[in-house]
Amino acid sequence: MNLKILSRNAHLYSTKRLVEAGLQKGHSVEVVDPLQCDLIIEKKNPTVYYKGRHLETTDAIIPRIGASITYYGTAVVRQFQMMGAFSTTSSESLVMSRDKLRCLQVLSRAKLGLPKTIFTNYSRDVRESIRHVGGAPLVIKLLEGTQGLGVVLAETENAAESVIEAFNGLEARVIVQEYIKEAKGADLRAFVVDGKIVGAMKRQAKEGEFRSNLHRGGSAKIITLSDEEEEVAIKAVKAMGLGVAGVDMLQSARGPLILEVNSSPGLEGIERATGTDIAKEIICYIERNT
Ligand code: ADP
Repeated sequence: MNLKILSRNAHLYSTKRLVEAGLQKGHSVEVVDPLQCDLIIEKKNPTVYYKGRHLETTDAIIPRIGASITYYGTAVVRQFQMMGAFSTTSSESLVMSRDKLRCLQVLSRAKLGLPKTIFTNYSRDVRESIRHVGGAPLVIKLLEGTQGLGVVLAETENAAESVIEAFNGLEARVIVQEYIKEAKGADLRAFVVDGKIVGAMKRQAKEGEFRSNLHRGGSAKIITLSDEEEEVAIKAVKAMGLGVAGVDMLQSARGPLILEVNSSPGLEGIERATGTDIAKEIICYIERNT
């Protein structure tokens, strides 16, 4: 099989592991930088032109598209799909997964547990927004944020009001969310490939921090998910139409609540925490579909 990994950086852990796993299973694997692809579009024969040649014989692609290159990256994924290549993540699902608000709406329609969330068009009545999620403490999130940056815990209504007004003033879009205290600074990451959980870890925030992101100093350990947590994670990934995904959940008094479904989940944290060869699971998933 001729496999392409769409990634800007061949030295990243996830990219290296996918190359390794593909080669181990006897496939031809190449890392392709999506930003260096030219897309040739005409009535027939859509192609991708890359570093002086046409990438015609591609059986499958694994998109590893960062949030900053979503627009061009998804166009490249779409082009490969038009050429008949199998993609572990379809361009449609990739686009959807990058819109946090749309994801929450899709998950809510699928009747999955979520922290109560409000989104407003720079509402002038900030107090009203705060009341909608049950008052302080509450969490304010920049829609464009990743790795826990732009996620703020406001302990009082006054603090919440100031932060929301500051973001509104900068025309930065935010969501306001109820704070799930019972989660105690921890969240769960379920890694799903082809509709099955292939690994799960619990991330715990460092002392004095409520965000459990590993980039914010959190630590990870392997866990076994409850039946309900497994079911919620699998349903969420199905609702988003993703072949490979990382589902982040909070453990609350009313069951698992989904924070986010990540369409380019990193392999490093989960492989290290679980000791599972997740890259191989992804290659096996492709083999079943090509
Ligand atoms: P990002 O996508 O930037 O990682 P998240 O929404 O996942 O942002 O939030 C970062 C971390 O903050 C989560 O992993 C979780 O530990 C904590 N967190 C986020 N939202 C809530 C919430 N509503 N209640 C309690 N903790 C939360």
